[in-house]
Amino acid sequence: MATVIAASDLKYPDLQNYIGGAFRPVSGERLDVFDPSTGAIISRVPLSGGADVDAAVRAAQAALPAWSAMPIKERVQIFFRYRQLLEQHLPELAALVSEENGKVAGEAMAEVLKSIELLEFTCSLPQITAGEVLEVSKGVECRIERHPVGVVVSITPFNFPNMVPHWSVPNALALGNTVILKPSELVPLSANRMAELLTEAGLPDGVFNVVHGGRDAVEALCDHPGIAAVAFVGSTATAKIVYRRATANLKRALCLGGAKNHLIVLPDADVEMASSNIVASMSGCAGQRCMAASVMVAVSDTDRIIARMVQHAHSLIPGSTLGPVISREAKQRIIRYIDEAETLGAKVLVDGRNAIVRGSEGGYWLGPTIIDHVTPDMRIAQEEVFGPVLVIIRTGNVDDAIAIENSSRYGNAAAVFTESGGMARYVIDRASAGMVGVNVGVPVPREPFSFGGWNESKFGVGDITGHGSLEFFSQSKKTTTKWNREAGVNWMS
Ligand code: NAD
Repeated sequence: MATVIAASDLKYPDLQNYIGGAFRPVSGERLDVFDPSTGAIISRVPLSGGADVDAAVRAAQAALPAWSAMPIKERVQIFFRYRQLLEQHLPELAALVSEENGKVAGEAMAEVLKSIELLEFTCSLPQITAGEVLEVSKGVECRIERHPVGVVVSITPFNFPNMVPHWSVPNALALGNTVILKPSELVPLSANRMAELLTEAGLPDGVFNVVHGGRDAVEALCDHPGIAAVAFVGSTATAKIVYRRATANLKRALCLGGAKNHLIVLPDADVEMASSNIVASMSGCAGQRCMAASVMVAVSDTDRIIARMVQHAHSLIPGSTLGPVISREAKQRIIRYIDEAETLGAKVLVDGRNAIVRGSEGGYWLGPTIIDHVTPDMRIAQEEVFGPVLVIIRTGNVDDAIAIENSSRYGNAAAVFTESGGMARYVIDRASAGMVGVNVGVPVPREPFSFGGWNESKFGVGDITGHGSLEFFSQSKKTTTKWNREAGVNWMS
C-alpha cells in the first residue's frame, strides 16, 4: 500500500511505465519503494493492469517488423554503444542498485560490472550465430538461419535489479525480438534507467518497454496473445505459476526458480581457501543470491575449517561489508528459521539476529549467522532462507553428503571443497545441480557458458545466458536450395 507522502517529497517521484520510447503515467494503485538500508520510502511504483500490458504489447508489436528486419550486425552496434554508456554511468548505476536493493557499494559495483561483461556476449552474437550451410546432395544445399520469436517478456526478481535484466534483455533484443521487462516491484528504479540508456544508445522506440507491477501485470503478460515467449527469474513458487500459465497459453517459457545450494567440504580441503570462500558465498549480497551457499555438508573432521569460518564471519560488519536484507518481512522470516532450528537443538555459532547499524536503525539488518549440528529434516535445511545464514550438517562420509545434496528439491548450484582431483570428480558426477563448483563457493558460469539449474530451480528447456539462451530467444529456419538443373534428383525433389 502507498503512504500519504506527497510525490514531490520522494527522492524518485512516482514511477511510470516506459512504452513506445516514452514514460507513460499509470493510473490506479501504487506501492511504496523502500531503501532497505534505512527503511525510508524513496519512490512509489505503479501496479499495472491488463490495459497497461496491452499498450506495451502493441508498442512492441509495432516496432517488431523494422527491428527484426535490421541485420544483426547493425543491431549489435547499439549494444556496443550501450555497453559504453553502462561504463560511463557505472558509479551512478551502482548507487541506484545500493539504494533500492541495499547492496554495499562494492557489491553494487560488481553487479553492474557483470552487466557490462554480459554485453560482450551480446556484441559477439553476429559471429556466434553465423549460420550453418552444407551441400546435402549434389547441387542441393541446406542452410540454417536464426530468426526472432517475436515479442518476448522478461520478468525479474529483486536481488539483482541491474544484472538479471541484463541476462535476458540484450540477447533477446540483439536476436531481433522486441522486449517487455517487468522488474520486481521492490526494485523498479534500475529498469527505468536501463530504458533511458538503451534509448540514448540508439534503440528505436517500442523495441524495449518496461511495465511495472506485480501479480496482475505478470498474469496479463502470461495471458496476452501478442506475446511469444516468457523468460522468468524468481522464486520456485512463482516460477511454477508463470511456467504453467505461459505454456498453457501456448507460449515458450523458461522459468528460473529458487535454490538451496550445498557445499560439500572434505577434511583435506585447504583451511584458508575453503573457509574464506564459504563465508563469502553465504554472506555476499546478504545471502540473497540464488547461488549463495546455504548448507555446508561437513564430512568427517572439518573442525579447523569451521573454526576459521567463524572468525571470518565475525569480521563482517553490517552497514559496511554486509548489506541489509530486502524488507522487514524478509528479516522476520529469516529470524523465524533461525529460532526454530535453535529450538530443535541446532547450535548457533555466529548469531546475526540482533545486528544494529548506528545511524541506520530503520534498516533491515541481519548479521552473518552460522548454525552447526543442523539435521536434514529441519525446515532450515530444506527450504530457501535467502539471507546471510549458513547451516552445517555433519556427515561421516562423502556418500552420505551426496545423498543429502541429492535429496534437495532444488538443483541450482553445488560445490565441493577438496585437494583431491578424484574426490572432486566423484562429487561432480553425482551432484544433482546444474552448476557445480570445485573449491569455488559461487560457481556462476561465465559467458559463453550458460546459467541455469536443475530440478525445481528451473522449468523449461535451455538456459538464460550464453550459448544455452540462443535456442530460447530465437527460432531456426531451415532452407533447402537447388539452383542448377543438373542437381542430383532424389526422394526430396
Ligand atoms: P518472486 O518470485 O517473489 O518475484 C519474482 C517476480 O515475480 C517479480 O517480478 C514479482 O513481481 C513476480 N511475482 C511475485 N509473485 C507473483 C505471483 N503470485 N504471480 C505472478 N507474479 C508474481 O522472487 P523474489 O523474491 O523477487 O526473488 C528472490 C527469488 O528469486 C529467490 O527464490 C531466488 O533464489 C530466486 N532467484 C533465482 C535465480 C536463478 O537464476 N535461479 C536468480 C535470482 C533469483
